[in-house]
This record gives sequence, structure tokens and C-alpha cells, in this order.
Amino acid sequence: MNASTQHYTDILIIGSGVAGLSAALRLAPFHQVTILSKSSLSEGASYYAQGGIAAVFDNADSIESHVEDTLIAGAGICEKEAVEFIASNAKNCVQWLIDQGVLFDTEVTEAGETQYHLTREGGHSHRRILHHADATGKEVETTLVDLAFAHPNIHIKERYNAVDLILSNETDTTGSPRIVGAYVWNRQKEQVETISAKTIVLATGGAAKVYQYTTNPDISSGDGIAMAWRAGCRVANLEFNQFHPTCLFHPQARNFLLTEALRGEGAYLKRPDGSRFMPDHDDRGELAPRDVVALAIDHEMKRLGADCMYLDISHKPADFIKNHFPMIYAKLISLGLDLTKEPIPIVPAAHYTCGGVIVNQTGMTDVANLYAIGEVSYTGLHGANRMASNSLLECLVYGWSAAENIIRTINQIDEAPVLPEWDESRVHNSDEQVVIQHNWHELRLFMWDYMGIVRSTKRLERALRRIHLLQQEIHDYYANFRISNNLLELRNLVQVAELMVRCALERKESRGLHYTLDYPNLLEHSGPTVLKP
Ligand SMILES: Cc1cc2nc3c(=O)[nH]c(=O)nc-3n(C[C@H](O)[C@H](O)[C@H](O)COP(=O)(O)OP(=O)(O)OC[C@H]3O[C@@H](n4cnc5c(N)ncnc54)[C@H](O)[C@@H]3O)c2cc1C
Repeated sequence: MNASTQHYTDILIIGSGVAGLSAALRLAPFHQVTILSKSSLSEGASYYAQGGIAAVFDNADSIESHVEDTLIAGAGICEKEAVEFIASNAKNCVQWLIDQGVLFDTEVTEAGETQYHLTREGGHSHRRILHHADATGKEVETTLVDLAFAHPNIHIKERYNAVDLILSNETDTTGSPRIVGAYVWNRQKEQVETISAKTIVLATGGAAKVYQYTTNPDISSGDGIAMAWRAGCRVANLEFNQFHPTCLFHPQARNFLLTEALRGEGAYLKRPDGSRFMPDHDDRGELAPRDVVALAIDHEMKRLGADCMYLDISHKPADFIKNHFPMIYAKLISLGLDLTKEPIPIVPAAHYTCGGVIVNQTGMTDVANLYAIGEVSYTGLHGANRMASNSLLECLVYGWSAAENIIRTINQIDEAPVLPEWDESRVHNSDEQVVIQHNWHELRLFMWDYMGIVRSTKRLERALRRIHLLQQEIHDYYANFRISNNLLELRNLVQVAELMVRCALERKESRGLHYTLDYPNLLEHSGPTVLKP
């Protein structure tokens, strides 16, 4: 049996994407911080972000307009206060990134002045996306990773999975238990260790891996949402999964995204016969919000029985395409496709989890001293649909506001007690790993089929029945066998799948990203779907 190990830290940040790293770097001048990352430090959705970060940098633009566009994209159920909070702190937070050394593309105006080059994406009424060519996430993430590795107050644990959160036995003045630590799985040593902490920040990203087809990396398995739910936190709006309309359709590159900025710069969506179809679906054409575009592609594919649709920017000058989209151009060339000369095959794929763990404006969850920031959280920003390039922004703004609150309050928090060790005395090694493998495939396939772009009550109920069966099997397996990465992620994904389907069943209308054949219309009065453990 592996021996358990106890660690102590004041602040534990679980996740090293833009949310986790920006919070860590804000805290590090004042406190010791431990960061946990399931994979290498840079691996996460943040690294793969292409388009950029929304913020008002143009004098012709305004915070009011950014707020207005976000509210429209969110289909009437964004929380306006949260939207205003984020939009009004956007410029400062992006400026903080610039101060950390992040390079955004610039251009020289006719008056000879250098200014940031702003691009435009679906739903935005102005050019307001700062970007680093078409690899913004990589530039931001690698800059923050380098700073984190170099900082003496930041202690990094790579290849550690947080397994579960630990709450205090006693309750605080509000009657709730507080967070005191977490069990974590050291993947290298294959042992569970215990970390006591005064404060924990969940920055674990989204859950798009619950679907068969996704643009997300492997780490996006909803761990933070599942752990917070098990710890007693409410969640909201998990029915709203954003499907990116334009994921490359190619057998050798399943997760590769073709950024929305391509459509922002004039790319057309076409049927296999070369005709455009977006004008038949929406007046905004290719610049309609993602849900409208994804639904239109899904509709055309089903109507024509086609495997894919096409994205075509070949009518633009080749130099323009290569300069604006160098990473995409190079990737496609490596796959034998030339963006400057031909239409590129695309399909929609699960991209972003709009709902998550409910937090207040400081990123605090329902459990005292437990925060959730970035894609794991529900702040109220996205409502029923996320506007492009608002999510990295949300990571930055809540990374900052959570850090500020932790700095303000941590000295009043008692030391975490000595925690009970992980008990492995009744489990043994599994000789049936195939069960996990099978359940992984089954879950992701029926979520794609029954909880995908177009839903119905019958399909959702069918999905829930299967989820309950899987939960039973996984529970038995978890109780009897030693844990592995696949088992931990599957356990979390099944939990999140259940919450997603329950949210979808509660919504008796079609709104934003949730489209159901049984309730095709909008309700007059609507709000977020909230689930309580
Ligand atoms: C291909 C792609 C392109 C995108 N383009 C844009 C864009 O242009 N603009 C924009 O605003 N948004 C974009 N998005 C969305 C945006 O990238 C994400 O919403 C954002 O990066 C999420 O950041 P995060 O810090 O919350 O999570 P992530 O960056 O996903 O990081 C999650 C971290 O948590 C860790 N983790 C997870 N579970 C555990 C666990 N159990 N234990 C320990 N560690 C754990 C992971 O290892 C990782 O370090 C894009 C997303 C994708 C996939």
C-alpha cells in the first residue's frame, strides 16, 4: 500500500490556465502559493485559444457597447451586474497582461501612430479583440508559465490530480463548513497525498470532454465542477454548452479549431456545392453568434446528409491570410490543405461550458474560502451563450478579484487542521480496466447524440437513465479499486453529465445554446437554471 503524504500551504490553486496563473501571480508578491496542474503547467484550454481577448481599446468603442453586445449574445439571461463588472475591468486586466510582457499585435495608423490591432468576432458590434496573430492563448499562457516558474513564492506541482475537497468538521458563524484542504493524486508516484490549505481556488477549466467531438484538450473533464458539487456548492446553467461551429473535419486532426476571426475577416461558410448558406439562416450571415452558426451547419449537414460543410477565405489575398493566420495556415499545410486556395472542411464540436460553480463577484463559492474562477465558474457573464473572446477576459478579471479578496481576508482565517489521511486499506488493483475504457466511450457518445446541438425531452431522459447506470458502476469500481487518472476523470465527467442533463430537463424553452424540439419557443420570463446539492 502506498503511504499518504501531508503538505501544508496557505493558498492552493488547482489549475494552471490563464485563470489559475493570473490569480497566482497577483497573490505571489504577498503570499506563498501552491499550484496544482493535472498535466504540464501550460496544458489546458488557455494554451489553445486562438482568437483573442475582448476589451475596449478603441475610442470609437465603449464599455456600454461591450456590455450591450454581451447581453444580446447571452439571450436575455446574463446577470447585468456581472457583465458590467467584467467589461469595466477588462482594459485594466489586459493592461496587466501587457505589463507582464504579453505581446499583442499592433498596427501603424495613417497618422503614423502605433496602436493595438483589434479584430472583430461574432456578436461584437466593434473591433475589440486584442490578439497575438492566431495564437493568443499560447502567447499569454507561456508568458504566465515562465513568470510562475521564476517566482520564489509560487510552488508548482505538475501531474497532480485534485481528487476531492476536504471540509472542516465544525461550521462557521453562518452555519457552513469551511474548506480546509484537498486529496490529490500524485500521478508519478501513483499515491494519494493530502494538502491542507486556508484557501483553495478552483481554476480547473471546463467540461467539454463530456462530448465525443470537442475542440478542448484532454484535461477539460469538469473536475472542478464535480468536486465543488460534492463539497456542497450550487451550480448553474450547465445546459448551455457552446458548440464551436468550425472545427476542422480531418481524420488526423480531430480537435483543431478554425478561429472565428476567419469569419471576422471575411471567410464564407459553404455547402459542398460551393453555395453560401448563412444568409438563408440569419441576416448577420457568417457573423451571426456561434449558436446560430452551429445550428445552421448542423441543419445543412442533416438536410443534405453531408459529413461536413466548408469554410472558405480563399477569395482574400494569400499574403493577408498568411499574415493574419500563420499558425492555422501552417497546420493546414501540414495536413495537405491550403487555406489560401481552397475551402476547408469543418464540423461543429463542443467548445465551451457556459455554466459552472456559482460564485459571487470575488469568485467565492457557497463554501467559505473556496473560490472558483475561469471556465469552471458561473459568474453570470455568459447567460445562455458566450460571446467570443469574453472567456479569457473572465479568467483575468476573476483571477484578479479573487486574489484581491484573498489578500484582504486570509490573515483572519484559522490554520487548517491536521487532516485525515486517504484510506486505501480496502481497495486493490483493478484487473478490469476495460470497464473504464468502455464507459468513457459510451458516455461521450450518448452525450453527443442525446444532449447535443438539438435536444428533446425523450433524448434527455434516455441520457439520464444511462448516466444513472454508469454512476452506479463507477461508484462500485471507485469503492473497490485503486484510482487512476482515467477513473478520476470518468467519475467527474459522469457527475457533470448528470448535472448538464438535469439543467437541460429543467429548462422548458429553447434559448441561446439550449435548443429542444419539445419547447421550441422562448418563455417570457426566464433566468438561470440553478441546482443545489
Ligand atoms: C481551441 C480553443 C480556442 C479558444 N479560443 C478562445 C479565444 O480566442 N478567446 C477566448 O476568450 N476564449 C477562447 N477559448 C476558451 C478559453 O480558452 C477557455 O475558456 C479558458 O482558457 C479557460 O481557462 P481556465 O484557466 O479556466 O482553464 P484551462 O486553461 O482549461 O486550465 C485548466 C487547468 O486546470 C487543470 N486541472 C483540471 N482539473 C484538474 C484536477 N483535477 N487537478 C489538477 N489540475 C486540474 C488543468 O491541468 C489546467 O492546468 C478557446 C478554447 C479552446 C479550446
